[in-house]
Amino acid sequence: MAKKFQNFIAGEWCDSVSGDRFENRNPANWDEVIGTFPKSTKEDVDKAVSAARKAYESWRKTPAPVRGEIMKKAGDIMVERKEEIAQLMTREMGKVIDETRGDVQEGIDTAYYAFGEGRRLFGKAVPSELPNKTQWTRRRSIGVAGLITPWNFPMAIPTWKTFPALLSGNTVVFKPASDTPATATLFVEILLKAGVPPAVINLVHGGGGTVGTAIVEHDDIDLISFTGSSEVGRIINGKAGGGLKRVSLEMGGKNAQIVMDDANLELALDGVLWGAFGTTGQRCTATSRLILHEDIHDEFVDLVVREAKELKLGDGLDETVDVGPVINEGAREKIHKYVEIGQDEGANMVLGGEIADEGDLANGWFYKPTIFTDVEPGMRIEQEEIFGPVLSVIKVSSLEEAIDVLNDVEYGLSSSIYTQDVNAAFQAFDDIDCGITYVNGPTIGAECHMSFGGTKSTGNGHREGGWEVYEFYTDAQTCYVDHSGTLQRAQIDNR
Ligand code: NAD
Repeated sequence: MAKKFQNFIAGEWCDSVSGDRFENRNPANWDEVIGTFPKSTKEDVDKAVSAARKAYESWRKTPAPVRGEIMKKAGDIMVERKEEIAQLMTREMGKVIDETRGDVQEGIDTAYYAFGEGRRLFGKAVPSELPNKTQWTRRRSIGVAGLITPWNFPMAIPTWKTFPALLSGNTVVFKPASDTPATATLFVEILLKAGVPPAVINLVHGGGGTVGTAIVEHDDIDLISFTGSSEVGRIINGKAGGGLKRVSLEMGGKNAQIVMDDANLELALDGVLWGAFGTTGQRCTATSRLILHEDIHDEFVDLVVREAKELKLGDGLDETVDVGPVINEGAREKIHKYVEIGQDEGANMVLGGEIADEGDLANGWFYKPTIFTDVEPGMRIEQEEIFGPVLSVIKVSSLEEAIDVLNDVEYGLSSSIYTQDVNAAFQAFDDIDCGITYVNGPTIGAECHMSFGGTKSTGNGHREGGWEVYEFYTDAQTCYVDHSGTLQRAQIDNR
């Protein structure tokens, strides 16, 4: 019998009021059911929000360093259970075990970063324009946070949101993606074990249209942090904006790696293989475009095709596997549809382009690493997010042209340039319109203490990670103390 997972609402593990459940299966092996999960409703969300609201008063008054110690404990538990979490995550989501270990490690790093921030959460003390008056700002919690996450980083992304939200003194209603609810449940168990008070964290499983919408539209939720597609982000922004909620949106990408004629090609090769085919191309920062200087184009394409051909597909629990399955049937259909579009558009498919179904692969959602050359700027495979192991190669004749092509998409998340020329590198920093730029590194590789996010349709100006995320989860309160004993009028008495 499949394991029955539950919601965690108002301090209790419980089923949905609907009584309905949905199933979660291993994308590398459909025969394996990870578990069944509550198919929750608006009523479940209402209960969760009301519990989070009640818990808010005492949590916000808990000193930040004490909240930080709980985050540290959560990090410690994750260290102890790292391998167990990684194994579950690979079974649930498909990416290879080394990557799921990395996903857990990102959660651990984020916990320890939050622990440190508990003793900082700096405001600013600044001089007054009047004598005997002291003034400063301090950071205060906001209220109840609604957190909505995607499936591609089942532990890391929930921790990116939950640790800073809690450390800042907010209470949480968390809706994970319905493709990765088991890892999310393990995370909530860990938070509770670490000492997060019941009802400070609430977990509601279910679909985006029902549970996600109910969170976004709830009057008593003060802020929303969403990571997912730009399509859904737009809907959320409209609804939450109407409710005057604070909203952080981290959305899609169409990231590119530039390789200039002076680049170290072996290094650039390692970068593109990891960037394009790591996580089976299902990272928001995945390299889906490769922009090559014409002088190295043919040689570099040969290298990439030669190496990509050798990548081993399979169950991510097998340590020798390079590329796992894609997340589900719909994702594989979408990838294949884009491959057909690329062919119709006249791009030259030099590798892959088909479902991988030899032997054991037949039982999972596998797709062969795919490479298109002769891709022209403006083609749909060059513009739209495919979210799979498909790489489009574009030939250019100068740095300026490379940067123009890189920028000419609706997204602006991550970017990379391989060059030995320091001037070219700094020109790239200046002229690339993305939230993240790497020099001589692939488009993927975020660290939790650096800001993370993108421009244009990738984001709405907020950042995850780093110190900026704490600004999202707090309000600045401005405090003045006049100790002059007289009425002092700013802008008047001192002029
Ligand atoms: P998605 O937008 O389909 O779903 C994301 C989450 O939103 C899920 O929990 C889903 O259930 C929920 N949701 C769906 N419809 C909703 C609605 N109407 N109201 C409220 N919630 C709703 O995205 P996905 O398929 O889970 O993830 C892949 C996408 O996420 C890609 O576009 C990828 O680029 C993006 N992503 C971005 C980042 C980043 O930091 N920029 C990181 C990871 C993934």
